[in-house]
Amino acid sequence: MPDPHERAAELRHLLNRAAHAYYVLDAPVMEDAVYDRLYRELSELEASDPALQRPDSPTQRVGGVPAEGFTNVEHRVGLLSLDNAFNRDDLQAWHERLLRVLDRPDDTRLPLVGELKIDGNALALSYRHGVLERAATRGDGARGEEITANVRTISSIPLRLQVNNPPEWVEVRGEAFIPDATFAAINAEREQRGEALFANPRNACAGTLRQLDPKVVAARRLDFFAYTLHLPDDAQPSSQWDALEWLNTAGFRVNPNRELCADLAAINRFCDHWEQGRHELPYATDGVVVKLNDLLLQDEAGFTQKAPRWAIALKYPAEEAPTRLLRVGAQVGRTGAVTPVAEFEAVALAGTSVSRATLHNADRIAELDLHLGDTIVVRKAGEIIPEVVRVLPELRPSDATPVQLPQHCPECGSSLVREGDEAATRCVNSSCPAILRGGLRHWVSKGALDVDGLGSKLIEQLVDRGLVRSLADLYRLDAALLASLDRMGAKSATNLVAALEASKQQPWHRQLYGLGIRHIGEVNAKALAAEFFSSDSLATAALEAPEQISELHGIGPEISASLGQWLGTPANQQLLKDLRSVGLSLEASASEQEAASQAGADTDGVLRGKTLVLTGTLPSLSRSEAKALIEAAGGKVSGSVSKKTDYLVAGEAAGSKLSKAESLKITILDESAFQQLLEQSQ
Ligand code: NAD
Repeated sequence: MPDPHERAAELRHLLNRAAHAYYVLDAPVMEDAVYDRLYRELSELEASDPALQRPDSPTQRVGGVPAEGFTNVEHRVGLLSLDNAFNRDDLQAWHERLLRVLDRPDDTRLPLVGELKIDGNALALSYRHGVLERAATRGDGARGEEITANVRTISSIPLRLQVNNPPEWVEVRGEAFIPDATFAAINAEREQRGEALFANPRNACAGTLRQLDPKVVAARRLDFFAYTLHLPDDAQPSSQWDALEWLNTAGFRVNPNRELCADLAAINRFCDHWEQGRHELPYATDGVVVKLNDLLLQDEAGFTQKAPRWAIALKYPAEEAPTRLLRVGAQVGRTGAVTPVAEFEAVALAGTSVSRATLHNADRIAELDLHLGDTIVVRKAGEIIPEVVRVLPELRPSDATPVQLPQHCPECGSSLVREGDEAATRCVNSSCPAILRGGLRHWVSKGALDVDGLGSKLIEQLVDRGLVRSLADLYRLDAALLASLDRMGAKSATNLVAALEASKQQPWHRQLYGLGIRHIGEVNAKALAAEFFSSDSLATAALEAPEQISELHGIGPEISASLGQWLGTPANQQLLKDLRSVGLSLEASASEQEAASQAGADTDGVLRGKTLVLTGTLPSLSRSEAKALIEAAGGKVSGSVSKKTDYLVAGEAAGSKLSKAESLKITILDESAFQQLLEQSQ
């Protein structure tokens, strides 16, 4: 653990720099969630030891300093920030604190107002006798920049209040913002003009409000939601809810997505709703603001140095957060690819606790310039795998050492290999237990052989005990042996044996996919299995005529080469033999063949429902031209000759396919006969 004084100084430096970039330059250098997390760490340090508090700490200030170029004005009523709650426990704790401050610890049914936290820029609007007199930014809370001319261009801000006998003065606070669609248009225009893009709508809005030319502001079409009202004492409404109504009547846009809630439970429901619902809104919101409804009670609760005690901003779950890197491990996948994995102090992200994240590969580690002990930024959104997106080098300890990728496989100890321009480092030991486990998991997975009851833990036991050394070994397991394993009963053992037995009937394309050959995903496996009805015919094509494979629709030379490499490896040929010996067919059943042949049968054309095979070099047509003609006439091109083949189109130097077609008495066409056949359809 670093020295708290040093750490506090580091954090102050980093946060002040970030706040300057954010508030003054309108060009943030870090994600808000990362800023919030570091800010919180600093607040906690300062709370734990008053000797760590400094007047230049960002925790002692609201926002940024007013920018130059505008007149600075004093606010009649200060504009403060809001305290943040990062989860429902924080929200609950705020509520309890509020009730204690009000000396009503049991009064849990004090009405609260739920409002959306609009991610824009606070404005202070001053009206005199009902007329907009001055508009200013929040600045440091006490003084802001006078931007009246710019604000006059915002059409949702009334220049004259729509109230009879307006009070002598009215102060309105609200959020200026840029709707998402406008933001996208602004950035698209900037991109076209080669200008730097705005990081987000909030920064775009801040930059726009500080434009010296109001015409530019007008063109950016800002919008505004009002949310706070200050009137002379005798005119002030008694609640926040009534204040919002007053603002609405006076001609302001007030966000309609607000709710007067009877208690914290109702607020929680409001937050639940908007956590999802916010994605449907045409503008950005970064949380929900909860306010005590009764304004007299608000006065009673008062303020801390920076924020009111009677309100809190519940931020939506962060998808990025900083944390400390502890070590880098490695994971070996079923293709032998080694994925470096960052292990770090646990952080809450997108609602879950995360302590490991992928680093992808060695290039990524180098790109991040990752050091052990670094503060890293980790991201997890929804269901995606957590990843390390950035390093904060300012927070790097002086003795940090660069991260090295292991030279040896963490599973089997053999040297790792990085070939050609491949990004992945691989273990190439085909009997590496990690590769075997991965291969087994893939074989039994849903899209492949879909075997129920064979989870990762069981696979681990089977491999560790040497009971399974290949995919074929799975089919040699008996129920008695399985029942003797940890957490296996006689019944589940019998069920598993039955499930394995049943898996032998899975169609050929699933078996092919299950082999886990690189680049052969479910779609490619289907396409290949529909052309080549057995592992043998596929192997013959892959090894002897790879162009038959690479020319198939959606398949290219890379896939064809990968197949050739796999099928040409003796260990894999042995595996196919073993799989056949334990009862897997590795070929299409008669009905699968029928279905594959019928697939093209629905199209119109002279070759409707017909399967053709091409071989040799045709005098004028290339393979792909011939194929295109066949498909246009409703036919299908297959890679191998079988009883289902209707025609073999043979050119120069036709090989084994010609003799096979002859032996099967299949009609053989040369190019001119083929062309004549096609002409019948015209
Ligand atoms: P804040 O944005 O967290 O909350 C206060 C502000 O919320 C108010 O001033 C007001 O403008 C706004 N708001 C929106 N809707 C509101 C509503 N219905 N009622 C009341 N207020 C409403 O606080 P802040 O002091 O403006 O900024 C701090 C935040 O700015 C941090 O939490 C951080 O996310 C971000 N920040 C980011 C960086 C960075 O580097 N990315 C740097 C500094 C600050």
